Amino acid sequence: MIARSHVAVIGGGIGGLSTALALAMQGASVVVFEQAPEIAEVGAGLQITPNGARVLTWLGLEEALQAKGLQAKAVVPTNGLTGRAVTRFDLSRQTPPYRFVARSALIEMLARACRARGVDIVLNHRAEDLPEADLVIGADGIRSATRGLLNDTAKARFTGQVAWRAVIPTKAAPEARIWMLPRRHVVTYPLPGDGLNIVAVQERADWADEGWHHPDDPAHLREAFADACGPLQDLLMQVDAPLLWGLFQHPVAPVWVTDRVALVGDAAHPTLPFLAQGANLALEDAAVLARQIALHGLQDGLPRYQALRQPRVQRAIATASANAVNYHLRGPRRMLAHAGLRALGRVAPDAFIGRLDWLYGFDATA
Ligand SMILES: Cc1cc2nc3c(=O)[nH]c(=O)nc-3n(C[C@H](O)[C@H](O)[C@H](O)COP(=O)(O)OP(=O)(O)OC[C@H]3O[C@@H](n4cnc5c(N)ncnc54)[C@H](O)[C@@H]3O)c2cc1C
Repeated sequence: MIARSHVAVIGGGIGGLSTALALAMQGASVVVFEQAPEIAEVGAGLQITPNGARVLTWLGLEEALQAKGLQAKAVVPTNGLTGRAVTRFDLSRQTPPYRFVARSALIEMLARACRARGVDIVLNHRAEDLPEADLVIGADGIRSATRGLLNDTAKARFTGQVAWRAVIPTKAAPEARIWMLPRRHVVTYPLPGDGLNIVAVQERADWADEGWHHPDDPAHLREAFADACGPLQDLLMQVDAPLLWGLFQHPVAPVWVTDRVALVGDAAHPTLPFLAQGANLALEDAAVLARQIALHGLQDGLPRYQALRQPRVQRAIATASANAVNYHLRGPRRMLAHAGLRALGRVAPDAFIGRLDWLYGFDATA
């Protein structure tokens, strides 16, 4: 029912490109406007969990993901002060596989598939107004102007946390390691090739800016983790140009759709990175939106998309926010939590990941 309709997508990130592809596969004529001069993001990594991987398979990108991704074997919560693994939770039996991938590789495979489907990707084009089209997709990210056209402006709240990210040239086991320290944590995982993706989070009283791309002195990062165990300090010693950003909590937008506009991805529901779901949820949005339009047409499909998505993303965002608290515990609560995790790993090793069945087991394409 979207076939031959004109769709304009604002934003060529993961949400915009996956939605463009899903709609083009249904015969829509799609143009993507991206303000950046090229469709490329370098450096950082992403964890594509099974719920996101299912959408990529549906979009015909299973082989590309397999070629560009590294299959994750485990998540290893680790005491960041001693370096001892608290426990190890198996990921190797997840289907489709849980993968680590370079963000640039994912963007590139989506862009290539879009072009192969006839999607026109217009670079260096900042959309200032809603383009003329039967359907406009607002995929303009965390600072979405499209969200502001549909909703009253809601102020983002500083969470009291900042994060550094970096990739270092180190080979490591295909595991996500969560190094937990009082008031801080670091997540490390390998990328295809020999890169290790690092995101280090520290609690702080104040911060002015939300942008993702503030270069920082690596000495600040090392200073923040000066009491960490040797292996973690060794990794941080290899960081030479970290980017630092303040973590802000945005409310989920109350309104995602009008009769000809729909928000997807961070434009609708920015999340904190502590559950690795921002990109995965954007992929889910693309599939649910395209399917609802195919089943019910634009007029009914758009409100159905919002009604289906909002409760799920609220739950994912709440889970992500809670993770930071659990990783940063201090004193006796920290000891208790680690003992609990250790016991869980021994007695019911599948229970930890099993708690996330509602998340990883979801099929947005069904
Ligand atoms: C450190 C870090 C680690 C993360 N790790 C993970 C992870 O492991 N797994 C995961 O699922 N998610 C992860 N995320 C979250 C994920 O990256 C985002 O949620 C996801 O990229 C959102 O995609 P999007 O397309 O909605 O927005 P974006 O990727 O921000 O794309 C928006 C695009 O719109 C463009 N744009 C904006 N305004 C305009 C305009 N007016 N005109 C034209 N173009 C415009 C921008 O240039 C940009 O290209 C992580 C995030 C961070 C910060």
